[in-house]
Amino acid sequence: MEEKPNYHMSSAEFRQWGYKTIDWIADYLENVEKLPVLSQVEPGDIRAKLPNSPPQQGESFAEIFKDIDEIIVPGLTNWQSPNFFAFFPTGISAPSILGELLSAGLGVQGMLWATSPACTELETHVLDWLVDMLELPLHFKSSETGGGVIQDSASSASLVALVAAREQTTADISKLVAYTSTQAHSSIEKGFKIAGISSENLRLIEVDGNYAICPDALQQCIEQDIAAGLTPFYLAATVGTTSSNAIDPLPELGAIAQKYNIWFHVDGAMSGTAALCPEYRWIHQGLELADSYCFNPHKWMLTNFDCTCFYVRDRSKLTQSLSIVPEYLKNQASESGAVIDYRDWQIPLGRRFRSLKLWFVIRHYGIEGLQHYVRKHIALAQEFAEWVKSDSRFELAVNPPLNLVCFRHKGGDRINQTIVNSLNSSGKIYLISTKLDQKVTLRMSIGQATTEKLNVQQAWELICQIADAN
Ligand SMILES: *Cc1c(COP(=O)(O)O)cnc(C)c1O
Repeated sequence: MEEKPNYHMSSAEFRQWGYKTIDWIADYLENVEKLPVLSQVEPGDIRAKLPNSPPQQGESFAEIFKDIDEIIVPGLTNWQSPNFFAFFPTGISAPSILGELLSAGLGVQGMLWATSPACTELETHVLDWLVDMLELPLHFKSSETGGGVIQDSASSASLVALVAAREQTTADISKLVAYTSTQAHSSIEKGFKIAGISSENLRLIEVDGNYAICPDALQQCIEQDIAAGLTPFYLAATVGTTSSNAIDPLPELGAIAQKYNIWFHVDGAMSGTAALCPEYRWIHQGLELADSYCFNPHKWMLTNFDCTCFYVRDRSKLTQSLSIVPEYLKNQASESGAVIDYRDWQIPLGRRFRSLKLWFVIRHYGIEGLQHYVRKHIALAQEFAEWVKSDSRFELAVNPPLNLVCFRHKGGDRINQTIVNSLNSSGKIYLISTKLDQKVTLRMSIGQATTEKLNVQQAWELICQIADAN
């Protein structure tokens, strides 16, 4: 009999390359500190090393894997370097990587409860756990009116909240107005573009000396809009803004949202994780007034991208605005009303088994282990801030509430820009600047899983050396 063609990798080969891949990852993570943090390649360098056409015949995995070291690694910005201080961290950990791998291996698509009950129920359960772990408002629990879901990003979370808020109103879309601060993440405005609401209808409210939204200015703006015949419908506050880690005053904002019947969304993308520790739960004071909330374990909770935990006070408002049931998705479990179909809680239909990695992380580290890293990063940032304060050449732009230190050389924008450029082209550390009060400001973001005091000390020494030389 003629043999049927089989192009698959054999099970034996899969084991061999699987073990090799894990070894490679372990080696990479052990040695990542030696690599330049910011990739030093020029635009087009990586593509120039790739063949013009894909292979007609399959190649050996050995050949494929060789190109990881030769082509891919030089083009990496090494986010997992302990000397990565740019943006916000993108946390990973061994248990999380294994959870990702398992999710890939199962290849489950959990759009409906019925398409993998474990995928849905584990997610609901772990998100309920996190309500307790962060001491979030109890109505975010699935046993109450609300519930949590894993989204791919904080951007999706605020967009989904925006759509749910829009669906609660009867006003014409051109009359809807929303509010956030001048410091809110760009994803809030992007959400408006996607939701088909003019970004002119998004009011950017001024901030105070700590870059947190001014409730009085908000109230005034709402009154003006109502007087002009417009309908306020959405307010997005931030717990830990990206530029400066500002924490908006949720109690005052929540009271205003209630007064005017506005959907109140709170974006705690990076900083929400701090609430793992009782001493930092003040950041969420007033969160009980929120209609929706999100934070990103994929930033500061050692969980691989993508993993945003999104909670709503009233899940029916979310599912009413997003649920469409074509014939081919109908099934007994859904119709019984006894199950959650997470497809109705998000933009795409399909979804990965993302709760596995979160479950692994929480079980491996325990609450205690996760708290340890939050406390460590905040202590390191506070220490760094002390060094800045005690050096007469530098100043803090704002007192760091948690693990992001915004500071600048007193010599003006040019020298601050020089410092950032020299640091990043050195490959030794990576940090970025922002603008606060129109001034170039350096951002030292401390939250990488393996960052130690020595890394922070070396970063400060390097910054001082560059300042001395200029
Ligand atoms: C990082 C960040 C976001 C965007 O996060 P994604 O999950 O990548 O969409 C949104 N808001 C704030 C405050 C952030 O810091």
